Amino acid sequence: MPYLSLILLITAGLYTAWDSYRRGRSIFTSILWGVGVSVLFFVFFPLHLITRPRFNTGTRWNKRYNKDNTIDVTDEISIACSHCGQYFSGNPTTCPHCGTILKED
Ligand SMILES: [Zn+2]
Repeated sequence: MPYLSLILLITAGLYTAWDSYRRGRSIFTSILWGVGVSVLFFVFFPLHLITRPRFNTGTRWNKRYNKDNTIDVTDEISIACSHCGQYFSGNPTTCPHCGTILKED
């Protein structure tokens, strides 16, 4: 079945080109990676997995695929200082209003 392996190689090449493109590589570079994987799969496919860039922030792919960057939810929460009673957001070690140390560690 030489056709089956050919189809698999082309599929791998297309996947690599698509994966490169959505990760921020240019169309030209992505196509080169795809062709490289199709021609020399065992060389370029591991190389692609190693060298592929991480998802760029601000791309449309980012919202759907980027699960690496966890959002610091403490930015959204206001906490009252136990000493002066004023509210602050974020996760500071000291109160921004009175300077009381909030965390010992
Ligand atoms: Zn305070």
